[in-house]
Amino acid sequence: MEEPKGGLLLVLAHPDDESMGAAGLILRHTRNAIPTYLICATYGEAGWQGKPRGAKKEDLPEIRAKELEEAAAALALSGVELWDYPDGGVASADHPEITHRIGEHIARLQPRAVVGWGPDGGYGHPDHLAAYRHVTAAFDAASDPLQFPDEGPPWQPSRLFYTAMLRSFFRKMRETLQAAGVDTSDFDRPEMQRLGYEDADVTTTIDVSDYTDAKQAGFSAHRTQFAADGPFSRLDAETQRTMFAYEHYILARPVDAGPVAADDLFG
Ligand SMILES: [Zn+2]
Repeated sequence: MEEPKGGLLLVLAHPDDESMGAAGLILRHTRNAIPTYLICATYGEAGWQGKPRGAKKEDLPEIRAKELEEAAAALALSGVELWDYPDGGVASADHPEITHRIGEHIARLQPRAVVGWGPDGGYGHPDHLAAYRHVTAAFDAASDPLQFPDEGPPWQPSRLFYTAMLRSFFRKMRETLQAAGVDTSDFDRPEMQRLGYEDADVTTTIDVSDYTDAKQAGFSAHRTQFAADGPFSRLDAETQRTMFAYEHYILARPVDAGPVAADDLFG
């Protein structure tokens, strides 16, 4: 069966990136019947936090693939490509090869917009930074007719967006956690201070408040990655919902787009 075209393509690094970074965005599109695909570069075999009972470390790739499958169902993704580049080593993998594979998917799925990690890598994770370089290079090569001859005529998506966390969000998160009696001294670490973007850098803010329950389901599917007793579990459900009601994106391509719709990737 031919895959539906003309939607959204997300290019990320790990199983759980989609739920952490863009679940509301995905839901806003899939719930409106817009085909939405995910490329995930690694099985995330280096992430080992929650240990499912009886599981061994070598089982982790398979466990995380299942978790991603469950999250993809919760988010109603149209398709997931899970690649087996080494977790923590995406940057050392073959850059032209990954870029080319992403380009083939762009040519085949013909997305109108592409979303990936930005130049901050979310929080500087080397795999996120690599994924940022790959998706940007693939987007820039998309219109070259010599790149993907097997995929038919070249397809240039209209827009490339990077996910963005706001410094103002982290400040608010800290205040809220502090008020709930949670130790927030971690926020003083220099790398935490550098995290995120100023509000003025953001071009597009998506209200995802209608989807927070499904978003939570996507998040919860990644059982090995998020401790059930983490700091967030200390906040009441309503506070969590309010904090996750918006997602922020930065328009990266076209570079000189002029004013863009502030609440819509396609508008
Ligand atoms: Zn990640």
